[in-house]
Amino acid sequence: MITKHIKYKKNKLHIEGMDAEKLAEKYGTPLYCYAATHIKENAEAYKKAFAKVMPKNRFTVCYAVKANSNQSLLTLIRKTGAGADVVSGGELQRALTAGIAPQKIVYSGVGKSEKELTAAIKLDLLQINIESEVELERISRIAQKLRKTARIALRVNPDVDAKTHHKISTGKKEDKFGIDIGDALRIYNRAKKMPAIAATGVAVHIGSQILHIAPYKRAYQRVAKLVKDLRNNGHAITTVDIGGGIGIRQHEKDMPINLDAYAKMVRDVLGALDVHIVMEPGRSIVGEAGVVLSRVVSVKKGHHKTFVIIDAAMNDLVRPAMYDAYHAIIPAKKSARRRMTCDIVGPVCETSDVFLKGEKFPAMQAGDLVAITCAGAYGTVMSSTYNTRPRANEVLVKGTKSALIRKEETVRSLIAADIVPKWVA
Ligand SMILES: *Cc1c(COP(=O)(O)O)cnc(C)c1O
Repeated sequence: MITKHIKYKKNKLHIEGMDAEKLAEKYGTPLYCYAATHIKENAEAYKKAFAKVMPKNRFTVCYAVKANSNQSLLTLIRKTGAGADVVSGGELQRALTAGIAPQKIVYSGVGKSEKELTAAIKLDLLQINIESEVELERISRIAQKLRKTARIALRVNPDVDAKTHHKISTGKKEDKFGIDIGDALRIYNRAKKMPAIAATGVAVHIGSQILHIAPYKRAYQRVAKLVKDLRNNGHAITTVDIGGGIGIRQHEKDMPINLDAYAKMVRDVLGALDVHIVMEPGRSIVGEAGVVLSRVVSVKKGHHKTFVIIDAAMNDLVRPAMYDAYHAIIPAKKSARRRMTCDIVGPVCETSDVFLKGEKFPAMQAGDLVAITCAGAYGTVMSSTYNTRPRANEVLVKGTKSALIRKEETVRSLIAADIVPKWVA
């Protein structure tokens, strides 16, 4: 989508102050481009909205690193004062390397290993969100051995429908995430008897790309009731982690949640509990701030259809193939060319390597540049080298400055990573 920082100037698409065509010429295609100012503003928007309804020291924005974990982006986000939400030992390392303090890091995830948990407990993280009773027992054992106290929150499953794509819903009974909210009290009672566990939080995360406040409100009301029950039973709950999942404008018609309204709702539902609020936004901070620039390789006219084949593919951005995600594609240069109906596809040998079907698009020819929009989140982090396609370069733009932010991958570097044992040769 067109945004404040990714828009046409004199009919040419610009990422902040940089002409998209110039970026493509300089860094090649396919190319991930991010608008730095956009990311910074998005991270600050959370801070501003919550600062209006609660004191600054009563909430922490923990950016969900899995959305995009590049060190440059993490550094930009850290500089806004945000912490991190990580879901693996690798992401924990990334957050620490970008200078994010352990006291601002929340560790989530359904299957943390013994090794990962040991590292997390040693670091005294803000909170470890646990997903099962077995995990609680494991953390208790490790923390005791290390003579540490692990601050934990139970991630509860509130059984609400987030009204999002079923592949990115996480808060329904049948989803693999969280602990049934009805079992929570019994588990907190158990946790209380564990000497190395401080069960001070409750966490919830109901899904992703959510465009309505109502499911959040329902989930937080259930959490508020749980916190009251827990306190009545002698549990000192000091933190509520409200998760992430706020959606972005993927379609022109999408109306994202207004953060001021969201923050007010959070205060209305949870404010009276006087808890520290942790939030875990990912997509809404980086999603709209990134595009993939790609050139048309060829236009293939079949009997039934016209295919515009571009040089970006599902290995670069798997979301359309994996979740039927919609990513609008726009030309880098606005033109008066006649519009035609076409499918925009990648060159990978898979039927699902399709970005858009039946699109009305200005007539394209080989060499034309297009931008796949809203690609900042869950794009490059999910990319692969399938079909021996090196991962796309990534570039950060700020005003008229641009820089490569990840080492270039080449076919040669991909091949060089393979090992051929002597007994094969
Ligand atoms: C993925 C995830 C998030 C971030 O979700 P977004 O939709 O990117 O905001 C936050 N919390 C948890 C536990 C997650 O798994």
